[in-house]
Amino acid sequence: MRLGTIAKVPIGVHWSVLLILILLVAVLGTSVLPAAGGGDSALVYGSVAVLTALLFLASLLAHEIAHLLVARRTGVGATSVTLWLLGGVTELKGEARTPRAELAIAVAGPLASFAVSAVGFLLVTPLRGVPVARTAMIWLATMNLLLGAFNLLPGAPLDGGRVLHALIWHRTRDRAQADRRAAGAGKILGGLLVSLGAAQLLLWPATGGLWTIIIGVFLAVAAHTQLLQQQMRDALAGMRVRDVMTPDPAVAPGWIDIDRFVSSVASRSHQTAFPVVDTSGAPIGYLRLQAFQDVPPARRGETRVDSLARRLPPGRVLSPEQEASVLLDPPLTGDALAVVVEDGRIVGTVTGADLARMIQLIGLRRPGVSGPPTKSS
Ligand SMILES: [Zn+2]
Repeated sequence: MRLGTIAKVPIGVHWSVLLILILLVAVLGTSVLPAAGGGDSALVYGSVAVLTALLFLASLLAHEIAHLLVARRTGVGATSVTLWLLGGVTELKGEARTPRAELAIAVAGPLASFAVSAVGFLLVTPLRGVPVARTAMIWLATMNLLLGAFNLLPGAPLDGGRVLHALIWHRTRDRAQADRRAAGAGKILGGLLVSLGAAQLLLWPATGGLWTIIIGVFLAVAAHTQLLQQQMRDALAGMRVRDVMTPDPAVAPGWIDIDRFVSSVASRSHQTAFPVVDTSGAPIGYLRLQAFQDVPPARRGETRVDSLARRLPPGRVLSPEQEASVLLDPPLTGDALAVVVEDGRIVGTVTGADLARMIQLIGLRRPGVSGPPTKSS
């Protein structure tokens, strides 16, 4: 759900935030606020709980917007800011150019949370005559303090992981090494949180160990995926789609029947996936050999190839001169197919397997030897 835009960047909320909102209102309205001892009515507790929960979401947004604004100042654009189940995510366009810029972007969020927390604590005294408001303010200030502190834990993908990354990058001048070590720290941190959660569940079941376990698993998985994507991006840096594609693939004419296609094209090709073209040669989709198994043999002579074609998603029709990293947004996997078109003609295809093979080859390249590996040798 779109809330609006800040500095031309869309600010959105994922539906899972509704769960958080309900959970927060329930906890605040039934236990935190009544504990203030003001003896107010359920209606008062309910409305203050809703207001407090909304203010908390706004403070999550303030944290993300701080990242966004500092990123803009250091010349890194952002594509979106989204709130979801586990907090906020600011999607950046590319990488910070220097360790200093990365450090500034990373600490901006926690600093914003600490600032909100400080303002909250300053408001506690003026509110002392209204116990329910005072308690709500203490809760908000404490949550923001914890939020800032948690995000500074040193492991990717947390802000503290970015700080660690920036420091290692600054000291070693080796960004790839910083990637590996920040991701390693993220996995260790995730593992620690999972152990802590398990201990909580066994020893103090009332303290919500399950939540700690979920966050720990999320951190470890996110640290791992982030590292893989970064390594793929590094491997493909400077390469074009032309360098990765399989040139001059066999294509499936959409208007012929399956039997004819199998005897004239498929049986002479090593491909398992084919771009499907119309009579002008333009791509209209793709198909896998597997798809023919669903058609009974007796009907294969009268079923047209294009009736089995799958649609090519928008980002999967490419030009040979595009940067190869487009194949990673989102990553092309397995036998999913991208079609490379030049002057209205199909000049190549890329499958997830091609991409994985190319990344492995680049990994085997001897240091100091530059340029994409040649396919023929
Ligand atoms: Zn942050």
